[in-house]
Amino acid sequence: MKITLAGLQAQHQALRKELLEAVAGVLDKGVFILGEQVASFEREVAEYCGTRRAVGVASGADALALSMRAIGIGPGNEVITAAFTFMASASTIAQTGATPVFADIEEETFNISPAQIEAKLTPRTKALIPVHLFGQMADMDAIMRIAEQHSLAVIEDAAQAMGAEWRGQRAGSIGTAGCLSFYPTKNLPACGDAGMVVTQDDAVADRVRLLRACADASITGGKRYHYDVLGYNSRLDELQAALLRVKLRHLESWHRRRNEIAALYRELLDGCDLQLSAEHGNGRHVYNQFTIRTPRRDHVQAYLAEREIGTTIYYPCPLHLQKAFAYLSYREGDYPVAERVSGEVLSLPIYAELKDEQVEVVAKAVREALAS
Ligand SMILES: *Cc1c(COP(=O)(O)O)cnc(C)c1O
Repeated sequence: MKITLAGLQAQHQALRKELLEAVAGVLDKGVFILGEQVASFEREVAEYCGTRRAVGVASGADALALSMRAIGIGPGNEVITAAFTFMASASTIAQTGATPVFADIEEETFNISPAQIEAKLTPRTKALIPVHLFGQMADMDAIMRIAEQHSLAVIEDAAQAMGAEWRGQRAGSIGTAGCLSFYPTKNLPACGDAGMVVTQDDAVADRVRLLRACADASITGGKRYHYDVLGYNSRLDELQAALLRVKLRHLESWHRRRNEIAALYRELLDGCDLQLSAEHGNGRHVYNQFTIRTPRRDHVQAYLAEREIGTTIYYPCPLHLQKAFAYLSYREGDYPVAERVSGEVLSLPIYAELKDEQVEVVAKAVREALAS
């Protein structure tokens, strides 16, 4: 039985009629950029995330870059993020002209360690970017406490965690701003690139609205084709918004199914010689990834590949050891947990369309691999 790492064809098959109708509606209307689909989707996402505002942009990376620009991060500032995450969490910091500073992660959850954040604070620290990795939120109590004590902004990288909760509050709704991605591997997948900034702060939302469309002065009541600041072209398009609105109606049931699959994996892999990341117990995990950890990772991955079971390694190299960040002069050994974890993690198939029988096949293959 071939089992793919992701299941978008099956999702689209199930929603085919609604999705095609949404596309037809946009084609017939003839408005393609920042129209009523985007405006409606923004209202629906704000409501879903429990924020006052949501502003659509072209990608999750742009959501990070524009929210940093919106709160004034730039040259001379330091911004702390996790050493173990997707590149965009940190490359966007560098793109503002600020310096990315890494903090090590917690062994049990793979999320950024508040104690390690504190160890990296300097007078130049301006913001924290906790990443809610694999669908589970970082320790937002401790992170907000540090931010308040040191007057720092907090930008939640919620690209993998839309709908995840920390003590009843949804990802993106606690910090100064939250950044969502609708890249096709995320829990709410677009048919292309798309992203969103969510925030309780009207000033931040208005600033992102300005920056996403070249900062045209008409956006804030001034004259069209006049510009007071430099902006970007980073707009969410109507087709993606229309498709995402259809999918948003199913997101809660997809999250529930992902949690069922995770529980089944935990049951079937119980007693195996591997570590499963822990749930923090303070709110909902949305399982964008189900990640196992074993020093025999490469062997397990090869064994599953031979049986046509797709897996992937998020992430094989921590960010402080990437060549692109060589100018920051980090060395091997600087972030021991991130380094150990990146050598041992493996993400298994998890998506709403996955059947229990398929989960059983994957779990059995993992068990066999570990026994061989
Ligand atoms: C996917 C992702 C991003 C970037 O989102 P894009 O839409 O691909 O630009 C940023 N941070 C994390 C943690 C991600 O997983």
